[in-house]
Amino acid sequence: MENQSNGKSDSHLNIPKIKFTKLFINGQFVDSVSGKTFETFDPRTGEVITTVAAGEKEDVDLAVKAAREAFDHGPWPRMSGADRGRIMMKLGDLIDEHVEELAALDSLDGGKLFQMGKIVDIPSAAHMLRYYAGAADKIHGEVLKMARPFHGYTLMEPMGVVGHIIPWNFPTTMFFLKVSPALAAGCTMLVKPAEQTPLSALFYAHLAKLAGIPDGVLNVVTGYGYTAGSAIAYHMDIDKVSFTGSTKVGRSIMQAASESNLKQVSLELGGKSPLLIFDDADVNKAVDIAVLGIFYNKGETCAASSRVLVQEGIYDEFVKKIIEKAKSWVVGDPFDPKVQYGPQVDEKQLKKILEYIEHGKREGATLATGGKRIGEVGYYVEPTIFTDVKEHSLIAQDEIFGPFLCVIKFKTIEEGIKIANNTKFGLAAGIVTNSLDIMNTVSRSIRAGTIWVNCYFAFDSSCPFGGYKMSGFGRDAGMHAVHKYLQTKAIVTPLVNTPW
Ligand code: NAD
Repeated sequence: MENQSNGKSDSHLNIPKIKFTKLFINGQFVDSVSGKTFETFDPRTGEVITTVAAGEKEDVDLAVKAAREAFDHGPWPRMSGADRGRIMMKLGDLIDEHVEELAALDSLDGGKLFQMGKIVDIPSAAHMLRYYAGAADKIHGEVLKMARPFHGYTLMEPMGVVGHIIPWNFPTTMFFLKVSPALAAGCTMLVKPAEQTPLSALFYAHLAKLAGIPDGVLNVVTGYGYTAGSAIAYHMDIDKVSFTGSTKVGRSIMQAASESNLKQVSLELGGKSPLLIFDDADVNKAVDIAVLGIFYNKGETCAASSRVLVQEGIYDEFVKKIIEKAKSWVVGDPFDPKVQYGPQVDEKQLKKILEYIEHGKREGATLATGGKRIGEVGYYVEPTIFTDVKEHSLIAQDEIFGPFLCVIKFKTIEEGIKIANNTKFGLAAGIVTNSLDIMNTVSRSIRAGTIWVNCYFAFDSSCPFGGYKMSGFGRDAGMHAVHKYLQTKAIVTPLVNTPW
């Protein structure tokens, strides 16, 4: 088994100096009102990287005040879309100029592959900003065809002050999935990054200022969910909360909105996405898609294909080949270019995965490979595959969020669809087949927001992403996302001089 490199390797030469650790409010880096800080950890070792300002309710209040002032009286919502777009383009360029440093921050803080950050996460963030920069001057309403003699039209107005609450698994992608369309729409905002990965968000705040985003438009409040996050969800002067994270916290966000000012809410939540592999598929290709779907980013991906459903004709061959592939997977220091995944984000996540492995064994599924922590330093887990998994079992139902794959056998297309839909989630699904009929039938039958056919994780700035069922509602990415941050206003005036 190759997957045994653990802890730090000699390759941590790219480790950046940490420059920003304070809250970013109204264009300034400031301490929290209480003066409190929290530690952020290096998952390769469990050692403290640095301490970061712990924002709480008072700090959220200050950030909202700044964002409100910038919205009610500042230039951002009033400037032309083209001018907003120019500033966003500039921010994209600044991101490109700092690719290595930004990728290294996310690797250090979140255990993410440095090379992947350099070629995917960070450049995609710049691309996303440019996509929405191009949209900023194409936001407009419509002229209405009214039955009576009135002239009616709609305006698309920015929603107002937005609170973005984001998770730790893709600190950069999540930041720009939220911020870019909201900036294009003309909103002002505060972002609360996850407490596990606050560092790159603060760097982005610095770059936003350099790019010319006016003070108060983009604020970053680092801190814990139960303090800073909750203060955002309950705030009386926030117009919208855009949340990505667990289904459990998503539920509490909706509750907070209903108990406070009925702010609008959009939720991108968890998943247990099925990948269906049919008898006619090329098995080697199917294996490649399946390992990408589960081991990419060490399984800490909301849309991970954590349930692979394989038709009985190729089941044995598929299982043999995917086990071989998993055994050759290289796990270790995310700064090492040979490594295919790094440590889980923190000890809590590590323990959770190990507990589910024990559940799997107790439930009678076959532990085909993996199943153990690697070493004793850092939070590394072996690529783990359970076969002969029952569709109703806990490991086939709960989101585990790690390199933990459940393989389930099915006979007919109908049975495959039934098992795929047997989940409370509906974020994504994959299909591997050469049959157009199977592709058409299955893609229309699965209740999920994205269906990848003969590929997986084919994300794009233009491609709407979000959930059915308990994976949430609302869409990030694509033009749909701009509309999350807009209000529609109808304006009506008589065409003839009537009193009504
Ligand atoms: P989490 O829900 O624990 O935390 C997400 C964010 O919410 C963090 O910033 C956290 O500080 C904050 N938070 C926690 N408690 C809060 C509260 N009471 N009020 C307000 N904010 C609070 O999730 P996580 O463990 O950080 O991330 C993993 C989860 O995120 C998984 O379930 C995963 O599927 C989901 N996720 C979904 C998507 C998607 O697009 N659908 C993308 C990435 C991650």
